[in-house]
Amino acid sequence: MGLLASLFGGGSGETPRPPTPSYSGVKIHPSVDNGFPPAAAGFAGGTLTCRCASNPVRVRVGAQTAHNHVCGCSKCWKPEGAIFSQVAVVGRDQLEVIENAEKLEIVDTSAAIQRHACRDCGVHMYGRIEDTGHPFHGLDFVHTELSAEPGWSPPEFAAFVSSIIEQGFDPSKMDGVRGRLRELGLEPYDCLSPPLMDAIATHIGKKNGKLPA
Ligand SMILES: [Zn+2]
Ligand SMILES: [Zn+2]
Repeated sequence: MGLLASLFGGGSGETPRPPTPSYSGVKIHPSVDNGFPPAAAGFAGGTLTCRCASNPVRVRVGAQTAHNHVCGCSKCWKPEGAIFSQVAVVGRDQLEVIENAEKLEIVDTSAAIQRHACRDCGVHMYGRIEDTGHPFHGLDFVHTELSAEPGWSPPEFAAFVSSIIEQGFDPSKMDGVRGRLRELGLEPYDCLSPPLMDAIATHIGKKNGKLPA
């Protein structure tokens, strides 16, 4: 019985609630495992740097990012040991490779998102969609953890959570992963978040003539 219940004489036959389980030992990604700060007001971008000790690739992002999230898919770049990536979007006109662009290679030219990776350290510097009919055309995908500047938009949800199993994660431990994501305020989805799924479906509905253009 709780203190308040005992003071007011209530709760005599009350069954004690089981303690809320904690999943704090489950590691998601180094940028989110210990919590994360809110976006800085007026934040206007920064510079992403690959992990090369010399001649790193540098990419200038000239605006705040949007839709930051952790992603369990097999295509997004993840730092060593992390089971999720952390990825956000920014308008492609806001992105510019400012140093060592010749080290960038496209990981998979057949993928919808062309991920430009450093050929020496393997870090993905940005992902770009060249198909003008794609729902997310015009947006580049970036990993803000590659920037030293604080103030980027924080992660808002977790995408493609079940996909970590395809990459070898023990399926019996998924309750812990989803529990930890919820503790961090990152609602787990097995595709994208409802607003982004709705945006994709709206784009397709307009293309099909089922929705007014
Ligand atoms: Zn590099
Ligand atoms: Zn992904």
